[in-house]
Amino acid sequence: MLKLGVFELTDCGGCALNILFLYEKLFDLLEFYDIKEFHMASSFKEHDHLDVAIVTGTVSCQRDLEVLRHARNYSNYLIALGTCATHGSVQGAVEGKLRDKLEKVYGTRANTMKALDPKPVVEYVAVDFALPGCPYDKMEIYQLLLDLAKGVEPIKKDYPVCIECKLNEYECVLVKKGLPCLGPITVGGCNAICVKSKLGCIGCRGPLPKEANPAGEFEILKNLGYDEEYLRRKFKTFARGELRW
Ligand code: SF4
Ligand code: SF4
Repeated sequence: MLKLGVFELTDCGGCALNILFLYEKLFDLLEFYDIKEFHMASSFKEHDHLDVAIVTGTVSCQRDLEVLRHARNYSNYLIALGTCATHGSVQGAVEGKLRDKLEKVYGTRANTMKALDPKPVVEYVAVDFALPGCPYDKMEIYQLLLDLAKGVEPIKKDYPVCIECKLNEYECVLVKKGLPCLGPITVGGCNAICVKSKLGCIGCRGPLPKEANPAGEFEILKNLGYDEEYLRRKFKTFARGELRW
């Protein structure tokens, strides 16, 4: 049996909950994994060296950093799960100085909770696999854990959402409807679920690391009449400072 731990840093809880949403498929995984820690599921906790650690959320306070370092130091294979962990997600994109934000929300600049500027897991430790999505498709973590249990090298997705639109024969909402869809510059893997619902992709899986042209997309959307400030905010929502245009 492989030993598995699931650790949550600061986040909405969606990515940890999504593992439980595997329902009966979770029992397939339990044939291979002994869960030593998974706070969302159980108060049971056993301090042990882990074969696989899953970490969700952003490092947003000193406690997060300690949990992350523990997960890294006590595991052979670490998975950063969800866009909070891989790219910093929405909270990672909020601009401004930490003390100013504390004053605005709590009325004091004192940092009694030892808050840190929210950053993705990948900026603090080396990870073995980064699976983005806000949240990710639950079948992706299922497949990833099965692959690891069977000694199969997991496949990293390195293509845009547009590829999945084409494979599913979805009508392009950017070309046909002029919607501000970020599919051309966003990592695929969600099976273009938003476009399936006739919505534009908001980029929740983070920016495609290579062969994307954000400047070109920005120009196209600007020419369609979208306000530059609106586009700027849209482009950075799940990308922190990663996109350049
Ligand atoms: S990536 Fe999205 S769904 Fe997952 S924990 Fe962060 S905010 Fe929640
Ligand atoms: S289509 Fe875009 S916004 Fe929707 S789930 Fe996929 S990556 Fe996220």
